[in-house]
Amino acid sequence: MDLSRFPRRRYSVGPTPLEFLPNFTRALAELCPDGQGPQIWIKRDDMLGLTPGGNKTRKLEFLAADAMAQGADTLITCGAPQSNHCRATLSSAIKENMKCRFVIEERVPGSYNADASGNNFLFRLMGVESITVVPAGTNMLVAMQQVAAELAALGRKGYIVPGGGSNAVGGLGYVACAQELQQQFFEQGVQIDKVVVGSGSSGTHGGLLAGFLGNNIQIPIIGIGVSRDPVDQDPLVHKEAQAVADLLGLNMTVPREAVLSFGDWWRPKYSVPNAAMVEAVQMLARTEAILLDPVYTGKIMAGLIGLARKGYFKPDEKVLFIHTGGAPSLHAFEPVVLGLTEMPAL
Ligand SMILES: *Cc1c(COP(=O)(O)O)cnc(C)c1O
Repeated sequence: MDLSRFPRRRYSVGPTPLEFLPNFTRALAELCPDGQGPQIWIKRDDMLGLTPGGNKTRKLEFLAADAMAQGADTLITCGAPQSNHCRATLSSAIKENMKCRFVIEERVPGSYNADASGNNFLFRLMGVESITVVPAGTNMLVAMQQVAAELAALGRKGYIVPGGGSNAVGGLGYVACAQELQQQFFEQGVQIDKVVVGSGSSGTHGGLLAGFLGNNIQIPIIGIGVSRDPVDQDPLVHKEAQAVADLLGLNMTVPREAVLSFGDWWRPKYSVPNAAMVEAVQMLARTEAILLDPVYTGKIMAGLIGLARKGYFKPDEKVLFIHTGGAPSLHAFEPVVLGLTEMPAL
């Protein structure tokens, strides 16, 4: 599959590491039936370029290139108060000498605090041009179109990057990741049995699936929902994978049964902590010195740990966890991840 016909900017130097996690694998086995668990591998997409990496970087390589091809001078995007995606979009805009404007949705009422640490601090440090805060349930596309109209009135040109960078163009970033992984499996002589990835706005899960199908990589992908249970999440992922496959001209219908996800671990609500997330963040930090985040990867890893505990993976099966980044928001949740705050047990 040839991605070279799609305009792309480069924000990372070479592939991100694909590594075995020996200490975490040992600690996980102790929690599994009969003390036997899967071997856990990690794809370090937290080490991608931009400030400081994460899955949005891959999507923005294609989205920013598209914005530049259209002559835009400003990237407009949207997200939740501690949005990694907004932070990465701002980084991309800075690199490309564009301005950047956000629409922030307060999914939890009153949760946006301009003085907060984590990503909010980085928004200010890197100099976002404007932030419009809107209540939960606002039509974000319409809100971003309003920002674009304000820019047009000033003789400027905005480019709307959808929430999470998840459309067909953004999904190409995870097709590129699928190709990178295929090359690494070959070079490192690793045969992975299952891939675990976060599933939110679905560009990562859907793009990776389209990339696996297009490259004939027959490893099942297990999504862990960060905001929805499978009944709502799977159709989104399917739609995204199909849109990416169509853009690639694969001429295929994405099989509905290729989309698999689990819910539950995102509860009680998107971005609201739970005890399983805290356990996962602490476990990876204390066994491998790798930082997860409270909103996404902590809950995604909690899903992997939870499935392993139930005996979902066969002993010694090789499971690859895609680390999609997010560590800056840890600093907005310090007492929580240290276990100093009461929270839902799940
Ligand atoms: C956005 C994000 C995700 C979810 O990826 P989607 O492509 O939106 O499904 C997972 N992890 C982190 C750290 C993120 O910022």
